[in-house]
Amino acid sequence: MDASLEAHLKGKKHQHLCRLRAKRKSQEENSVFVSGFKPETSMSDLTEYFQQFGPVAEGLYAIVEFAESASTEVALAQLAHRLNGLKLRVKPRERKEFKLASKEKHEKTHISLEKLNHELCLTSSVNEQMHRMVEIFQLSENDVKARQLLVQLLQEVLIEFLPDCQIVPFGSSVNTFGTRSCDLDLVLDLENTKAFQNRSRKSEQQTSETQSEDGQSEDSILSDIDLTTASPAELLELVAVILRKCTPGVHKVQTVSSARLPVVKFSHRQLNLQGDVTINNRLAVRNTRFLQLCSGLDSRVRPLVYTVRFWAKQKEIAGNPSGGGPLLNNYALTLLVLFYLQIVSPPVLPSVEQLKNMACEEEECVIDGWDCTFPSQPISVPPSKNTDDLCTLLFGFFTYFSKFDFPGSVVSLREGRSLPISEFQSKDMMSKTAESLDATKQKPALRPKLGPVNILDPFELHHNVAGNLTERTHRNLRKEFCDAEKYCRSLQYQRKSTKGKSWGLVKLFAPRVEGLSPSQNALDKVPEINIPFKPTNLTQSFRTELASAGEAFRVLWFKKVCSALEVVFNDILKCTPSDHIEISQDQSNPQDEEVNNNQTHGSSSHQPTVHSGIKRPLSEEEGPSCSSSPQEKRIRLEPSADLPEVAHWTWIQTHPVWAGRRKIRRVILKTSDETSKPEGGCSSIESRVTQYIIDNDSNPKENVQFRVDAAVMGSDECTKAVLKFKATDDPAGHFQDLFHFLESFLIKMVETLLAKSE
Ligand code: ATP
Ligand code: MG
Repeated sequence: MDASLEAHLKGKKHQHLCRLRAKRKSQEENSVFVSGFKPETSMSDLTEYFQQFGPVAEGLYAIVEFAESASTEVALAQLAHRLNGLKLRVKPRERKEFKLASKEKHEKTHISLEKLNHELCLTSSVNEQMHRMVEIFQLSENDVKARQLLVQLLQEVLIEFLPDCQIVPFGSSVNTFGTRSCDLDLVLDLENTKAFQNRSRKSEQQTSETQSEDGQSEDSILSDIDLTTASPAELLELVAVILRKCTPGVHKVQTVSSARLPVVKFSHRQLNLQGDVTINNRLAVRNTRFLQLCSGLDSRVRPLVYTVRFWAKQKEIAGNPSGGGPLLNNYALTLLVLFYLQIVSPPVLPSVEQLKNMACEEEECVIDGWDCTFPSQPISVPPSKNTDDLCTLLFGFFTYFSKFDFPGSVVSLREGRSLPISEFQSKDMMSKTAESLDATKQKPALRPKLGPVNILDPFELHHNVAGNLTERTHRNLRKEFCDAEKYCRSLQYQRKSTKGKSWGLVKLFAPRVEGLSPSQNALDKVPEINIPFKPTNLTQSFRTELASAGEAFRVLWFKKVCSALEVVFNDILKCTPSDHIEISQDQSNPQDEEVNNNQTHGSSSHQPTVHSGIKRPLSEEEGPSCSSSPQEKRIRLEPSADLPEVAHWTWIQTHPVWAGRRKIRRVILKTSDETSKPEGGCSSIESRVTQYIIDNDSNPKENVQFRVDAAVMGSDECTKAVLKFKATDDPAGHFQDLFHFLESFLIKMVETLLAKSE
């Protein structure tokens, strides 16, 4: 790719563009920038006036270009200019526009919370505060201009290599909800370039005389890559090379192929902008148009969205900087606000289905088989009958979602209602679209990946835009909705303080307090589960066996626990073992109090410390208080006893088998002969729950790989199996959720299995 790029840079086309750029630069030097004239002043009036300083080559809006740069100097040297009775401002036309815009941006993009609070307290009501949020955060004219310039620059550079391509902005830069620090999302549309390539390939076949004078093919880059068959990742690699090598000001170019859609990320130095390029992402351009439309339908939409976006950012539940990770992204959050405006009574916004019916024939739009029809202009939609003010709507938004059963429901903007999961699953949501998909593209009808939060994309109906959320994010989301709802009930929210205290949005925007959240504490804890030895729970025959084993009962029991653990992970939770169980008996020097057994197996870099065959008091963190014996005695196992004292496994899970089990269990119990069983009470029910989750997981991509180190510890009635967990590969951050689930599930499940163990 690099070689053909070098070749291209030597080619005629590139040289031509270089000449064009040089010409543009000289045009700039020959031009002055004029302002202060009346709106009705025509270009010919300006040209006529400026001809007194030298021949005018061209006039464009307020830019007057002279034929020679000397005339510029004469015009600029004159102290005052007057036209039609008005004083004109005449300035050199500098390339500074970029820099000025970015300088101002640097100063203002990051308003401090203190300053924001001050600004908000100056207002007299929550309604006013919400309007102020828009004024403070929205993109300024300069921000918009800077983004337009960058789009132009990229378009100009990319088209040189990819003829007829189009670079189209989408996302917050253009959806009317952008903030001054938001990224610039771009789609590179290569449909026309593909057509171009096909045409030139055909004509090349007819005549092989398309070589240019210097022996280089004009489109050497295109001759390297077949746009019809190339993968998005390959195409983006090409885009990355072009951005890196040929685009002035662009740096930090990086391709990210792990995202939902592969993307090239880059920054622009002078504009201080971050950008993303995806390929042929027409659905995103269309859903951006949808957000724009909603914003235009009612003037309350923007203040609400800006307020909720800022609140969510403060509470760390939304606004992933790179779109990855387990938080809501701004798109999903905005859909939640729009959804609330659909279900509030009377509605502020119509459902997407209703909008579709308001569109005319020319507005019909189907992308990748999904119906994306809606009116292009707000005028086609009757105004809302809802008269609630912003303060009430924001309160209503928090109230609605504080009580919302996220795991048990699917948010559907298409229908303008939430569907119980069971209804959603039984109803063939896909039938309509699946037919068109199958007919047009032969794609399988996919199902959305359901999880703790389910927000269906309004158009791409098999896509849960909150599918990346984990149990933990869901818990935080719920907590923040409840806290916000509680606060909004107070007078402090609704009324301006007369005593100068913070009120309204100010308190709502207080950053999330670190350290107080239980989930945060869970993060700091060493992931460890203790399974206590409970003789009463065991079968009579096993108890007899243990009783006759003497001190070796510990390892006998531990072996049973290990087998039960294998059943839980392999059969019930259907994890895949990444290597075989390694059971070992400590053969090391009895003087070594801590033995690292993993070294003998060498299967993992994680080397837990395991106390083996050592009778000792338990430390506080190790679990139930157990009288510590002052005379610690080391007890070694008989060398003949072929029994394990430590074991470790590494398992992989590809599906969220920890999520939503309670509901699924309830449904399964209803249809089975089993009497009601609590979580972990029945292995066959639990296996079916897992199987159900696996069968309904349409997007099984994100592995969590974890290691479990088990050791038997304590003595007599204080004997226990200590299980230490460690995530060994967890790109999507699922381990915490999995572990949290296991904390309660594993002990109960192992006990159930031991109770019926033969
Ligand atoms: P910001 O960049 O300020 O965080 P944004 O409105 O640009 O906010 P992004 O999350 O960057 O939001 O998403 C940009 C666009 O990408 C959205 O407008 C949408 O078109 C598309 N998009 C993002 N996430 C999804 C998703 N999960 N499913 C479908 N489209 C999405
Ligand atoms: Mg964005």
